[in-house]
Amino acid sequence: MTKITDFYEQSSVEQAKALARHALEILLRDISSPAAAEEVWSRVESEAIFRELIRNWENWGALERRKAWAELSRVLEKAAYATRPYCLRCGTCCRKGSPSLYREDLSLLRRGTVSRLDLITLRKGERVFSNETDAFFILPEEQVKVREKPDSRECIHFQAQDPGCGIYEDRPRECRILECWNPEGFRVLKQEKLLSRWDLLDPADPLLPIAKTHEERCDLLRMQEWLIRAVEGAGGEDEKVVETLQYDRHVRAFLGEQFNLERRHLDFLLGRPLEEVVVGLGFSVQVEPGGRVVVGRKGEAGGQTEDGSE
Ligand code: SF4
Repeated sequence: MTKITDFYEQSSVEQAKALARHALEILLRDISSPAAAEEVWSRVESEAIFRELIRNWENWGALERRKAWAELSRVLEKAAYATRPYCLRCGTCCRKGSPSLYREDLSLLRRGTVSRLDLITLRKGERVFSNETDAFFILPEEQVKVREKPDSRECIHFQAQDPGCGIYEDRPRECRILECWNPEGFRVLKQEKLLSRWDLLDPADPLLPIAKTHEERCDLLRMQEWLIRAVEGAGGEDEKVVETLQYDRHVRAFLGEQFNLERRHLDFLLGRPLEEVVVGLGFSVQVEPGGRVVVGRKGEAGGQTEDGSE
């Protein structure tokens, strides 16, 4: 079987062109497009990135080829989806990630369509994946999302059998406005305010002050600065990292014991455990038997790999 690295290193321009054409045909088939592949292909051929790729493929190295191919893949996807401007309820978007919530979605919580146990808080400063850009980025503001199924990006409301979304008639704003055939939805949503847990917690809730204090003490932007300095060997920062991790663990255990809160409650109230967030940011923290703290980058000796596994 041809490895993807071989494709970037060894393929000819004709092979690259044939593979792009084949990928388009598969895409059109997968989304049950009514369009003829020939017609869509001629539109792809007139795109600047396609012409640039064909012109330069033989002279480019693997890195440039990989970058251009990623861009061309997005063009293929856009061209394919543009031929089928309606929702098939195929579930592809529901498998790629769950929706974040916007102001309009407050009514879903009031009606009980979505409960707080269905939600997870992504805190300012977390590293998350964007379906729009197909890349990871650091969240500039907090947001609250519908949970995803364990070890996947599939929304918890997605059912593999018909009818797909379990709350389709009452689905969140993001699911209504993001149409896979139309990038306009991303632009519309960018103008709107995302909900944070502070919009959802009752001001009289006794857990609110605990969540506020936790957010202040576990500020992720500051934590990242400490982690970077600890990796660089700046004195004192590794203790701050460990103290903050211990504090996070302690608050979660306390809330579990005193208020009977499970992991699902805590993922909304405090966000994901700080240890997981730190790994997501690309760091590893280990406390050795003698108490020595080792902060490193994931993938370094004793650290973790890109997907979070040991
Ligand atoms: S809420 Fe429904 S439509 Fe939205 S991602 Fe989940 S399963 Fe899909």
